[in-house]
Amino acid sequence: MKAKPSTRIRTFVLGEFEANCFVLIRDSNAILVDPGAEPDTLAAFIDSHHLTVSAFLLTHGHMDHVSAIGALSRRFPAPVHLHPADLTWAFTPANAWEPHYPQPEPPAGDIVPLSDNQTLTIAGLSLRVLATPGHSPGSVCFFIESEARLLTGDTLFAGSVGRTDFPGGSSSQMQASLHRLCTLPDDTAIFPGHGILSTIGRERLSNPFLSGLNHPAARTINP
Ligand SMILES: [Zn+2]
Ligand SMILES: [Zn+2]
Repeated sequence: MKAKPSTRIRTFVLGEFEANCFVLIRDSNAILVDPGAEPDTLAAFIDSHHLTVSAFLLTHGHMDHVSAIGALSRRFPAPVHLHPADLTWAFTPANAWEPHYPQPEPPAGDIVPLSDNQTLTIAGLSLRVLATPGHSPGSVCFFIESEARLLTGDTLFAGSVGRTDFPGGSSSQMQASLHRLCTLPDDTAIFPGHGILSTIGRERLSNPFLSGLNHPAARTINP
């Protein structure tokens, strides 16, 4: 029997590209995942619930996932975590998508580089970083193993997967990353960067982009 999840997750769909921003709430602490737009909306939520921001987690560097980080990190100082392979371009003109997303403003403080398989412990919650390049070179998923939850960014969606035709994308890396995610337990709930929630098991069975990976051998690879 798995323990009941103790982290509340509030979803905000933000910005022109309708990216999911997840606020992970533990007691009075908040972990913001992919604040990609509308910083005032998120700040109002944090303030009205009297939350303390413990950290910002970025699944990858694309503008629709990072564009509120400058304003929010000034207002709520906390570490910002991003993989170094996306840090090189996330806050440069290359990451603007006019007219909807101007060049993202960098965080106010230091950025903590993420590395594969590291475990972050934030507000008493352990999250394992799974490097899943393909959609972008520094894409990661955050695995909350104790609660069987996976924040997948733009790597895996309900019924689809992330594009690999942006700069730095790689379809072969994406295949390996999806293969890795398919080794996680079927009852793992996934929280994608766009669209609705799902589970690893449902996606393994029904996601057409995983059909080639839907083989028992896929399950022998250690995540
Ligand atoms: Zn993206
Ligand atoms: Zn996105």
